[in-house]
Amino acid sequence: MSKRSKGGDKRGYRPATQVVLAGRDPFEHQGFVNVPIYRGTTVLSPDVEHFLGKKGRYVYGRRGTPTTEALAEAIASLEGGAGAALTPSGLSAITTALTTVAHAGDHILMADTVYGPTRHFCDTLLKRMGVEVSYYDPVIGAAIADLMRPNTRAVYLESPGSLSFELQDVPAIAAAAKSRGAAVLMDNTWATPLYFRPHDHGVDVSIQAGTKYLGGHADLNLGTISATDEFWPQIKETTGTLGLCPGPEDAFLALRGLRTLAVRLERHMQSGLKIARWLAGRPEVLRVLHPALETHPQHAIWKRDFRGACGLFSIVLKPCAQAAVAALVDGLELFGIGASWGGYESLAIPFDCSKFRTATKWNPGGPTVRFHIGLEDPDDLIADIERGLKRLAAA
Ligand SMILES: *Cc1c(COP(=O)(O)O)cnc(C)c1O
Repeated sequence: MSKRSKGGDKRGYRPATQVVLAGRDPFEHQGFVNVPIYRGTTVLSPDVEHFLGKKGRYVYGRRGTPTTEALAEAIASLEGGAGAALTPSGLSAITTALTTVAHAGDHILMADTVYGPTRHFCDTLLKRMGVEVSYYDPVIGAAIADLMRPNTRAVYLESPGSLSFELQDVPAIAAAAKSRGAAVLMDNTWATPLYFRPHDHGVDVSIQAGTKYLGGHADLNLGTISATDEFWPQIKETTGTLGLCPGPEDAFLALRGLRTLAVRLERHMQSGLKIARWLAGRPEVLRVLHPALETHPQHAIWKRDFRGACGLFSIVLKPCAQAAVAALVDGLELFGIGASWGGYESLAIPFDCSKFRTATKWNPGGPTVRFHIGLEDPDDLIADIERGLKRLAAA
């Protein structure tokens, strides 16, 4: 390492500095600012002894390359974990984390508001593996203790909840779970480690769909799993055993996304809040489901635990026909209709949670629409939604 090397621990710096420095040592790459794309499977050894003794830093493409290692190191540093594993999608990060901790005969507790495909995995493959899953009200807090059984191996959280944005009391739930020996897993995609650091609040395994804000440009799928000292060896072992590795271009693009994450998120937050507040004042809107608004039922938790909010939130419209909701969404010029979020572009989708919730009742009082606020000028977005609300009223 040269005198000007910027390698080493970046954890002492503030998040906006960390995202610029983490996982990057230009003087390991001839001075080039970015870690290049290493595309490769075979890694050659200079002799038999080196090969048989597995003496090389890299042994095989699937087990890690300088590109993927740079990203993993950056994520571990941002999360404050002992290590981080990378997987080819957010969903595979979730399924890997769950299969690591839950074994046949175990019971796990899942927030009723988890991301739909997480729920599907629990109700199908995980069940077939002999793991019993029960769903709990996400706002249960310390009373989660009453739902714990002798074989409860893990408590899984996602805060805020997918589509509906309930916030969980993570420290209270984590403390109750830990006192009974259960692992605490959390999907932290909404906040990213810049706005909420799960390990600081008692979470053992912190999961992110890097697909969303880390990638930031709607052009890659990626998952990250950060774990504490206690859980990192197991997470690393399962990821390796399952043979999971992201492609080199995706790892490179995620590193590129990481460098601008702090500024992008701040803009998503500011524009999202501006539009959420504007929507809250509209006569067509019954409620805005945004954790950073004072009217959110768990706003106090957001203030206590979070450093910011991203650009994703939902609204509840006053009762109206589905055709009126379609008139609002269909005519939007700046909002695409599509799954995923976290890219630079705005999105809007109608949704209905009543079809899958089992531990809670979804009765919002009117039709619901989720918005992802992108990086466009927020005043253009407001004008677009305003025209949409006029179409809704006229329908
Ligand atoms: C999108 C998303 C995932 C899954 O990420 P993929 O890369 O699409 O598999 C997981 N959790 C949350 C909260 C998400 O929004």
